[in-house]
Amino acid sequence: MDCIFCKITKGEIPCDKIYEDENCFAFLDITPINPGHTLLIPKQHYENLYELPDEILIKLAPIIKKLAIAIKKGVDAEGINIGMNNERPAGQLVFHAHFHIMPRFSNDSHIHWRGKPYPKDESAQTAEKIKGFL
Ligand code: 5GP
Ligand code: ZN
Repeated sequence: MDCIFCKITKGEIPCDKIYEDENCFAFLDITPINPGHTLLIPKQHYENLYELPDEILIKLAPIIKKLAIAIKKGVDAEGINIGMNNERPAGQLVFHAHFHIMPRFSNDSHIHWRGKPYPKDESAQTAEKIKGFL
């Protein structure tokens, strides 16, 4: 399969590796929002969060935390954002599931998402629609 992140885990494409264990691999993003911006990926290829088996997700969660703390210390960050883009409309460009661990500084240029309030009653209706699928 022609996947850039699979090639990175196999060493076929170079990267600045941060961490590796039997399940996952973490390396610096090539175009960081700030230096230290890290990507954590499962070693096995899954396209996105929906495909990622729970057994793997459970193993990744503490690594996200471990990396967040190390990145914060390593680049003297004032905060950390965790992100995951799933599918093209959500900004996914590489279709091998990955978590972004992004160091933040008070005056960095990164623009956070902007919220907009719900029209009347729409919040409760939306909650009901989602709960129907849980
Ligand atoms: P997405 O938009 O899919 O969530 O993010 C993909 C990320 O992968 C982007 O932030 C991009 O900079 C990073 N990326 C893409 N190709 C490479 C690469 O070859 N090496 C590294 N280290 N990062 C990459
Ligand atoms: Zn892959």
